[in-house]
Amino acid sequence: MKKINLLGASGSIGMQTVDVCLQHPDLFQIVSFSVGRNIEQCHKILSMLPPVKLVCTALKEDALKLQAQYPDIHFTYGDEGLNEVATWHEGDTLVNALVGFVGLMPTMEAIKAKKEIALANKETLVVAGEIVTKACKENHVRLVPIDSEHSAIFQALQGNDHADIERLIITASGGSFRHLKHDELANVTLDEALNHPNWKMGAKITIDSATMMNKGFEVIEAHWLFDIDYDHIDVLLHPESVIHSMIEYQDHAIMAQLGTPDMRLPIQYALSYPKRLPLNDERLDFIRLKQLNFKEVDMERYPLLALAYKAGKMKGNLAAVMNGANDMANQLFREGKISFLQIEELVIDVCNACEFKKDITLEDCIEANAWGKQAVLERLR
Ligand code: MG
Repeated sequence: MKKINLLGASGSIGMQTVDVCLQHPDLFQIVSFSVGRNIEQCHKILSMLPPVKLVCTALKEDALKLQAQYPDIHFTYGDEGLNEVATWHEGDTLVNALVGFVGLMPTMEAIKAKKEIALANKETLVVAGEIVTKACKENHVRLVPIDSEHSAIFQALQGNDHADIERLIITASGGSFRHLKHDELANVTLDEALNHPNWKMGAKITIDSATMMNKGFEVIEAHWLFDIDYDHIDVLLHPESVIHSMIEYQDHAIMAQLGTPDMRLPIQYALSYPKRLPLNDERLDFIRLKQLNFKEVDMERYPLLALAYKAGKMKGNLAAVMNGANDMANQLFREGKISFLQIEELVIDVCNACEFKKDITLEDCIEANAWGKQAVLERLR
């Protein structure tokens, strides 16, 4: 029985993790979880799961209210509460499905507590990939990816030798505006940006998919997860999102993982690895599918993808600055305060202005991320 501490239970990945665990109640049990401010969802999750002992909310007032309603559960809150859930002694595995930079510290704490990590929070590796992967090695902690692309690469690696990898091929749907040229993006709206062609995901990541910042993050994640240099990580446009990513080996054999766009498989595989389990979801139907399409990525069309390659290669604090700037610009776009194209303009401008630091500590990463956020706000004053 795998005992799971789940961060971000009320989000899209979190709810699908709950579903996977309920499909295999004899194998996976959620023993603690966090929700943000969605208290209705918290009640719902509590009604679905076997008894849990620890729950974290974003706000203190919510934790106090819930405590009065559920006296047998210990409620905690805020950033400290996230660390408590991440390291809760009953759990042996952390599923980190938090969105954004807030996911970094709980991952670090869980690694120190020697919990196995199933990681959906991509910012953890974007901001502090070097530090996080080093900490995993030092603590003999296994980190398994949940992001669909990295899960596909992880699956395509099984039974093969890492030393034989020639290149990674990360597929990209192109996001909500893939049919538009760069100069047609000036007046696109939030609703249009939120309408992803293939995947149903949270708002932040759907916007990151439209700008392809998300794909840039995934390139950096892939570098840290699989220890492959950036010149051997390619992005390939594949509008159907059926091939979730591939590895080309030195004999030019290509191993791919294909499937419907459903995150429950990568979630379940991260938990069941190296075993495979039955999963109640939709199956891929090749006859209905008929064809798959591919296209080269135009880096000028997606400048944030180009920026991510640059930040990844330079290492140091640049990716953390980029993440902070993007977090803020993405949020401001969702709040209707800036236009879609301003997201990339601001992120690029802030990265160009930052003071580059090569050798970094965890504190430097945190500082660089905060500086990136602040620098976006200052440009709008
Ligand atoms: Mg992905």
